[in-house]
Amino acid sequence: QAVKKAVPVSSETRQLLEIAIQWAKATHGAFDPTVAPIVQLWGIGGEHPRIPADNELKKAIGLVDYRDIKISGDTVFLRRTGQGVDLGGIAKGYAADRVTAFLRSHGVASALIDLGGNVVAIGSKKDKTPWNIGIQNPGLPRGNALGFVSVTDRSVVTSGTYERFFEANGRRYHHILSPQTGAPAVSGLESVTVVSERSADGDALSTAFFVMGIQNATELLKDLPDIEAIFVRREKDRYRIEVTEGIYDRFTLLDKTAAVFRLKR
Ligand code: AMP
Ligand code: MG
Repeated sequence: QAVKKAVPVSSETRQLLEIAIQWAKATHGAFDPTVAPIVQLWGIGGEHPRIPADNELKKAIGLVDYRDIKISGDTVFLRRTGQGVDLGGIAKGYAADRVTAFLRSHGVASALIDLGGNVVAIGSKKDKTPWNIGIQNPGLPRGNALGFVSVTDRSVVTSGTYERFFEANGRRYHHILSPQTGAPAVSGLESVTVVSERSADGDALSTAFFVMGIQNATELLKDLPDIEAIFVRREKDRYRIEVTEGIYDRFTLLDKTAAVFRLKR
């Protein structure tokens, strides 16, 4: 509808769109909330996922551009026919922030909010020790952790290839798409975890870092002193885990076949 006329949205949707656009700018479009046309082509996570034809993808890529979202008052407008917004890469984080704010406003001093891949720790555990958040082993069923990070009052969000995917022609196609190629992002990463204060930020950035790859992400992290990250890659027969300096001492390795490195920004 928003390509025909400016449509009214709730204040939450407007706020969420503004945060999404801010991160789209900061990540030079690695995170882009207008990925909807390519997300729809692949249909990953839906009933009928498929590999789109090159010409379909080309057309869809041309429609992806966060600068075409126009917000005015409580209304949102998209410049071109065929464009659409998909907030799947940030909405869970925003929802977690709202839950956090709600609980805090009711005086809750200790809680763990888990929306699946998006975790927010309020305060510490009842015994005053930090919350331990597991980092999923990308190659094993849910619940198998490579290690854990110990946090108080922090959001911990992970984007990973193992979360949603389909298989065709012996290949795996996951749900984090490169707005440049229109295909699942190939950056050598299996997962990215972002530790931040606000979960919406961590959610957008974990998706963006995954698309950008570790080198570009490390560059961007220089401008983001309050953001910490954990990058997981496959290296021959083991996992290589890179942890930013600010949380390196808070990371505990569980899988002794994996190797951990301190990442300087
Ligand atoms: P996440 O699991 O938070 O990394 O988000 C992945 C979801 O965000 C996908 O299922 C899509 O709905 C959407 N998405 C995929 N690629 C991108 C991208 N490059 N920028 C923004 N959202 C994306
Ligand atoms: Mg995300």
